[in-house]
Amino acid sequence: MPTPHTLIDTTDFAAAVTTLRHAKRIAVLTGAGVSAESGIPTFRDRLTGLWARYQPEYLVSIAAFEREPDVVLRWHNWWREQIADKQPNAAHHALAQWQQQAQAAGKTLTLMSQNVDSLHEAAGADVVKLHGTLAHEQCQNCGMVFEPSHIARMHLAPPATCPHCGGRLRPAIVWFGEMLPPEAWQRAERACQRCDVLVSIGTSSVVYPAAGLIDIAKHHGATVIEINPTPTQTPAVDIVLAGKAGEVLPLLVNALD
Ligand code: NAD
Ligand code: ZN
Repeated sequence: MPTPHTLIDTTDFAAAVTTLRHAKRIAVLTGAGVSAESGIPTFRDRLTGLWARYQPEYLVSIAAFEREPDVVLRWHNWWREQIADKQPNAAHHALAQWQQQAQAAGKTLTLMSQNVDSLHEAAGADVVKLHGTLAHEQCQNCGMVFEPSHIARMHLAPPATCPHCGGRLRPAIVWFGEMLPPEAWQRAERACQRCDVLVSIGTSSVVYPAAGLIDIAKHHGATVIEINPTPTQTPAVDIVLAGKAGEVLPLLVNALD
């Protein structure tokens, strides 16, 4: 078995490999940390986190949108610009490869992400988007979803209004105070109820209901593995791989091949 070049404990790494080799159904939950090595700041990393300067807890809430829609939309456009030129990193590629490997071996790997940057899809993975995507716009009134290219074709300048009902368009992401898309949530919940292993990667596990997926998996008997350079001390976690996603995942996926 290859030894990780990071500081992660080799016993823990071996335990993770053994557990994952025996698993038929795998669920993977990712958060902002999986995109950190692509140069997209997480919300909570103290020095580089967006929240240090902009208080995104407020800006990514429905309450803020109702109070100051222009500020919220401007900030989201700025966030989009930060993400626009970013590419998938080794972690995104390893996860997409792992999903294909699993499928070829008759296993299932359900990838669920809280990220809104679309980098899992860019790497070729099939992903359950728990918090939507910044790549699309949605009507706040009727819920219709639009691609920005569609909006450009209609010559609608931002902030645009819905061509169907005149409602205000906004990023198609889930803000604090809003419900998760029911279809995505049901798919994720089902995967967590049935999985043998849940791998939680780059999430602080404090944003609910997404963080509750870890408890659902644990409650149904799954082993929980966490990949995070700063382990979260989440009680449900059985095996901690304390390293960066972009370093640990390629090693892990190669060891499973
Ligand atoms: P979070 O900011 O709360 O936590 C990030 C976690 O990633 C931390 O535990 C940190 O230790 C870990 N981390 C940092 N670098 C890492 C690395 N290289 N490898 C692995 N882990 C690393 O993020 P969250 O739990 O996803 O919750 C915040 C919310 O903000 C989510 O809803 C998320 O969608 C959103 N968000 C998304 C993006 C994005 O789409 N890229 C970016 C920022 C925030
Ligand atoms: Zn509408």
